[in-house]
Amino acid sequence: MRWPRFLRQPRDPGGDADHARDRARMVAEQLEARGIRDPELLTAFGAVERHLFVDGDEPYGDHALPVGSGQTISQPFVVAMMTAAARPEGGWEGAAVLEIGTGSGYQAAILAALGARLVTIERHATLADEARGRLAQAGYADRVTVVVGDGTSGLATRAPYRSILVTAGGPSVPTPLMEQLEPSGGRLVMPVGDRQHQILTLVVRDGDEWTHEALEPVVFVPLIGEHGYPEEA
Ligand code: SAH
Repeated sequence: MRWPRFLRQPRDPGGDADHARDRARMVAEQLEARGIRDPELLTAFGAVERHLFVDGDEPYGDHALPVGSGQTISQPFVVAMMTAAARPEGGWEGAAVLEIGTGSGYQAAILAALGARLVTIERHATLADEARGRLAQAGYADRVTVVVGDGTSGLATRAPYRSILVTAGGPSVPTPLMEQLEPSGGRLVMPVGDRQHQILTLVVRDGDEWTHEALEPVVFVPLIGEHGYPEEA
């Protein structure tokens, strides 16, 4: 006899089919429904396998998640909002981009999927190593360079950057990062505030002028370094 179709359906909990379904739902319910409309961005979030970057039962859940070493990654909507704000005027393809705070490597993977050429700096060597491995596994190794160090000083040797994303919250925008922005319209996005609460801030450079715009209240882990917070509170 032939089994009814529903009995032949392989059940694959946590398998690729389930992840693909959860990812599609994440894009529809958490991003599109909340006003993220850029098709390129939605495609990138639909493509990058978040479950390779974060642990736990709900890699596509609508919440922040631990990434190890006491650090957390934001919920998908915040990653998307930040990426949308940082989009270079001419688009992502081939753009030189700097990220501070590699963490899991997920934000870096999104930027790579969008076509950016990315340097990402992480102060925890363990996190940097793990992220490097995951980015290679996900197929983005050729577009992303993971560097261990204090990102608050940026990386002058690869500057200028069309876009800089700081994914940890600091007291003010580090001056070296402002200087490493491309003079004609370079964009920087960073949570600025105290250690508990910040305002996502967009800085746009025009020659020797930098305009600051407050976007949204957010909660990020602290940016620790020379131009951030000191190690001990
Ligand atoms: N973008 C990450 C999440 C970042 S969490 C992701 O997609 O998963 C913030 C990260 O910033 C943490 O990993 C923390 O260790 C790192 N960080 C904090 N201060 C830093 C600094 N001065 N330089 C580089 N990384 C820093």
